[in-house]
Amino acid sequence: MDRQTALRQYFGYDSFRPGQEAVVDALLSGRDVLAVMPTGAGKSLCYQVPALCLEGTTLVVSPLISLMRDQVEALRQAGVPAACLNSAMDEEAYRSVLREAYRGSYKLLYIAPERLDAPAFLSFAQKVDIPLVAVDEAHCVSQWGQDFRPSYLNIPDFLARLRKRPALGAFTATATPEVREDIVRRLALREPQVSVSGFDRANLSFEVRQPRSKKKELLAFLAGHEGESGILYCSTRKTVDGLWEYLRQRGLSAVRYHAGLEAEERRQNQEAFAYGQAQLMVATNAFGMGIDKSDVRFVVHYNMPKDLESYYQEAGRAGRDGEPAQCLLLFGGQDVVTARYLISLREENDDADEDAYRQRVERDTGRLKTMEAYCRTTDCLRGFILRYFGERAPAQCGNCGNCLIEFEDADITEDAQKILSCVKRAGERFGAVVIADVLRGAKTDRIRSWQLDKLTTYGIMPAMQNRDILDRIRLLVERGYLRQSDGQYPTLSLAPAAREVLFHGEQVSMRLPRAKPAGPAGPGGEPSDLLPARMGDEALFQDLRALRGRLASLRGVPPYVIFSDRTLREMCRQRPDSSAAFLQVPGVGERKLEQFGEAFLEIIRKHGV
Ligand code: ADP
Ligand code: MG
Repeated sequence: MDRQTALRQYFGYDSFRPGQEAVVDALLSGRDVLAVMPTGAGKSLCYQVPALCLEGTTLVVSPLISLMRDQVEALRQAGVPAACLNSAMDEEAYRSVLREAYRGSYKLLYIAPERLDAPAFLSFAQKVDIPLVAVDEAHCVSQWGQDFRPSYLNIPDFLARLRKRPALGAFTATATPEVREDIVRRLALREPQVSVSGFDRANLSFEVRQPRSKKKELLAFLAGHEGESGILYCSTRKTVDGLWEYLRQRGLSAVRYHAGLEAEERRQNQEAFAYGQAQLMVATNAFGMGIDKSDVRFVVHYNMPKDLESYYQEAGRAGRDGEPAQCLLLFGGQDVVTARYLISLREENDDADEDAYRQRVERDTGRLKTMEAYCRTTDCLRGFILRYFGERAPAQCGNCGNCLIEFEDADITEDAQKILSCVKRAGERFGAVVIADVLRGAKTDRIRSWQLDKLTTYGIMPAMQNRDILDRIRLLVERGYLRQSDGQYPTLSLAPAAREVLFHGEQVSMRLPRAKPAGPAGPGGEPSDLLPARMGDEALFQDLRALRGRLASLRGVPPYVIFSDRTLREMCRQRPDSSAAFLQVPGVGERKLEQFGEAFLEIIRKHGV
């Protein structure tokens, strides 16, 4: 079978996405590949299509049981013979899969890395035809990454013991050069074709908000996303527990996930989310790698993560199906404090070596600064991310919070004068937080005990929010009007340039948002998204979704394994009225037409084609 036929017949797609074809061709020609593609780009297809074209059984090494199970399920629904072997299976099931595998019944066999040196598995692998081994989430082989899995290190040994060394494909979304080099070296890839795809995800819109109350902001956001699946990331277990409780008390359908929960509860919650029984997943960064759910419509970061790599990876779990999805980060000053604390904690392997510890803290602190800069920038957010990953980006993407807000240069000279004189009158002995308190006229013990409420600048900015004053102080530091000392309790003092503002009429301006964005972010993604929705599309979409839900629960599989949201949307746009037309919908292959065609066509007909 050629690759185009495999793509069409089993997966229902007419064309490969950018980057996929080159990887498929290299693997088909027997060459090793390292493919770095962002989450949602379609890495699985890059080894699944070759597996269908090649003689024999392709092995896929995958780090998590839930990942394997979902992929195998999706392949079976598409009519591809596939199975998995892992430690969660009982003896009987394991042996029966192995028996079938000996007969060559599967085109793809998914295995946990721990299986590779099990004698029974090894002797199987030595006897059958294995044209290709695909290593999914290949960054697990690297100690630089957060998901290091020692058993990934067994892969080269395993390959060396096979009759004929298969082509080896390594797949990851992690882009950093250290990890990339580590993968090539530790998996012993042979002159691999390295393929790095563009990191832009046009269908994702990015936004940062700094609300006074994160909880209220979140509730308002969720109210606009009723019935949609979303992930809420928090930086600590405690925050997860608190937020989960808060949402449940308000009747929202939420489950939680973090490393402090029993394995069984984690499994159940993950499943409830994947299968659409719970709409919201409240989680730490421990959640995510094990899930391929394609219809996550939003990812909200309730806290700022510690670096932009983590942020983009986590946010990237939204909108894998290519439909518009939102990535919102709720930023607060406290997030920076928490992140600094987490960075300062000693890791196990830090203990031995003071230098190593200091180096790591320095590196992580640098990354944290970039993350904070992302939260504070008024430039295009997508551009900020892409440039960080070494890609070129236009000045404006038109689909992020900052591109949708209009900014204007506001004159803040008067505010600047108030701040500068307050710093002076307080004796240049205090930091930004105390100065802001004085200007607002706060009644804290600290203010009273230092008699700062006696200053003439006490309470002269009563109407301004604390964080707006702090923003202005930061700006004055950046522009060189104020000096900020180093150390744990930095104090502010006047720089010579301050005189210009205080006494010689120099003006200070600041970029401030003109107005709130009008409504939700516009559509992004591929051109078909830009077509206006037809009247009644939404009602049809909901009916199709309901049907998909029923079919999924009958079969005990997650709904997106039947059809993705994107495919349902496409059905609404095209309104096919025959089997032939139904087959034209992207995401509909022959097997799915056979199984589900009539049921979906019936509903579409009812709505009128
Ligand atoms: P990754 O592993 O890179 O995060 P997946 O392999 O899970 O991404 O694929 C993400 C989504 O993209 C899936 O829903 C898949 O069906 C879809 N997809 C992959 N390749 C194509 C293609 N050529 N055309 C349309 N959709 C595709
Ligand atoms: Mg994947």
